[in-house]
Amino acid sequence: MCESCATPAVEELAADEEAVRRGGLSRRGLLAGLGAGLGLSVIGLTTGASTASAASAKNGAWANPALGYFPQGGHYGAPRGGAAHAGQDITNSTGTGVYAAAAGTVIRRSWGGGLGGRTGNALVISHGGNQYTYYGHLSAYRVALNAKVKAGQRIADMGATGNVTGPHLHFETHSGGLGSITNPVTFMTARGVDLGGGWPRLDAGASGATVVVVQRLMTQRGHKLVADGNYGSVSVAAVKKFQASKGLVADGQVGPATWPKLVYTLRQGSSGQHVSALQTALNRRSAGLAVDGTFGSVTTTAVRAYQGLNRLVVDGEAGPVTWQALVG
Ligand SMILES: [Zn+2]
Repeated sequence: MCESCATPAVEELAADEEAVRRGGLSRRGLLAGLGAGLGLSVIGLTTGASTASAASAKNGAWANPALGYFPQGGHYGAPRGGAAHAGQDITNSTGTGVYAAAAGTVIRRSWGGGLGGRTGNALVISHGGNQYTYYGHLSAYRVALNAKVKAGQRIADMGATGNVTGPHLHFETHSGGLGSITNPVTFMTARGVDLGGGWPRLDAGASGATVVVVQRLMTQRGHKLVADGNYGSVSVAAVKKFQASKGLVADGQVGPATWPKLVYTLRQGSSGQHVSALQTALNRRSAGLAVDGTFGSVTTTAVRAYQGLNRLVVDGEAGPVTWQALVG
């Protein structure tokens, strides 16, 4: 986990040009007004950008940035030498894939991302609506500065650069401006993503590649849907029917109970809409496959590459564990 990566000193925060430029009260003004130190009470303080944030909070638009486990003491707000840890650590080995948490633009690609208190190679992605994500201690960059990225796109490799006890991803979420850190676990949960690596949740109104995955799996299950990526009333009604047929609560939410009933274990030689769904899910993670519904050697190679990059069992077969990692 990180040995530092804590919230920076007040002076550094106020000096961050973007934090100051976002309008309204500056962070310095807020802190002065509250007479606050750098305690936990300051963490998560926002300046009223909740309306803008809500615009991009739809489930389906966000992706789990890395697979691993939460190390002891690596949680948001954990003590770091009198300050508070600014993100959530996700531990795995050096070289593990790191993915964009949502679509956006790479605005920082530098040591500490140019933010005070952080160390190591880092990326910062702007998602619009004053929302940002930070990826720290990387061993390699897989995107250029100013690159436009999609949700789930491979952007870096996990590493141990900077002030750390071992390889991991230091992941931060900022809402209300760069510097307005929030609890990444809570932030991602509100967007349908389990940062701990569980199945995602898709609710009515969700959109994106994962919705296409659901629609193709539903078609294979005999509930024919147009794969348009919009989880609207027709798709929700079909999922409710499917849930009822499986003895599940028919709430229309594609979540941890429904996904395991929806996915198929697929291997070379499989063909159909479920394979198209798998290829769509792999492409969301930068596989670059033709979506042809045929599980041939190229798809096998892509599954094996994804499994290896994410420290799963490399067998070239798409079972529940691989599906969960892909769509999370
Ligand atoms: Zn950290």
